[in-house]
Amino acid sequence: MPRFYGFDNQALTRVRAEERQVVREAVGRIRAGQSQAEVAAWMTAEGHRGTMGGEWTSMTLGRLLDNPAIAGLERDPETNELRETGREALITPDEFRWLQQRPGRPGSVRSDQDRAPDYEYLLAGGLVECELCGQRMAGARTGAGTPSYRCQTNFEGRGGCGKVRINASLLEDFVAEHVLGELLRPGAIVALEAARASMSVDADQVCTRIAELEKSRTELAEPYAKGELARSTFVATDRAIGQSLKENRARLRFLEQVVEVPLGGVEDLARWWKHAPHRSKRALVVLLVGKIQVRAARARGVRDVAHRVTLTWRTPGAA
Ligand SMILES: [Zn+2]
Repeated sequence: MPRFYGFDNQALTRVRAEERQVVREAVGRIRAGQSQAEVAAWMTAEGHRGTMGGEWTSMTLGRLLDNPAIAGLERDPETNELRETGREALITPDEFRWLQQRPGRPGSVRSDQDRAPDYEYLLAGGLVECELCGQRMAGARTGAGTPSYRCQTNFEGRGGCGKVRINASLLEDFVAEHVLGELLRPGAIVALEAARASMSVDADQVCTRIAELEKSRTELAEPYAKGELARSTFVATDRAIGQSLKENRARLRFLEQVVEVPLGGVEDLARWWKHAPHRSKRALVVLLVGKIQVRAARARGVRDVAHRVTLTWRTPGAA
């Protein structure tokens, strides 16, 4: 019988520390929203192998994570309930229970078999713009189910031309390649730190602005209650403050996401990028790229991304 990953002996009384670390990080990544396949790919890329020397796959990782022994648990043969064994563990029983119940767990019962898996659009949130009409482009599947970015014919009451569409993975790969190239230039990380610092100041200012808006909204209610302010004036002013609050809060969420990017210690950026959590990658793109403009394809089916895309870099310090 092959050795059980994470343990030194068949009795599972001795943990292998370096393998426990791998399992812990794998579980952490799954908790952060990565799929089992993504985590398996990361394990293999890091040089970790199963106890028989094989590369990790979604299936072999799933088998490991489904085994209660990793949490010092076993199933009662009669009732199938989990009980503690008192042996060594790689993760906590709570973590194990969470893994068993997590949404989207491979092998769990799916309510909708035919539904295409969720696609996380790296460049969502207004980064991509239709060059034809200036409208923002949003993630949407084509009729054939391929993830793409499309000029929105309607966004917050504003209509776009709807004529421009681009394959999502082609655009994302193109942007990633340029972002990584930019980061490998000498001094790039230092410039990035400066841009981030200025965004952090920006975030503080937006915070102050939000507090002021909330205060003026409260103050507005008083003269209205005393009859010193016409209802129409009150409603219009209140609405304007509400809109401004909404915009400032969106800006704050955006800035906070950027300020959170881990910058130091990324030794091999390309390798990091391949397996980094979606959120970190997105924030890094936002930190470097101000705008991505997309033109219509010259002809259907032509995959000439480079000719269709204009990247506008943020100027360090001016962000
Ligand atoms: Zn458009």
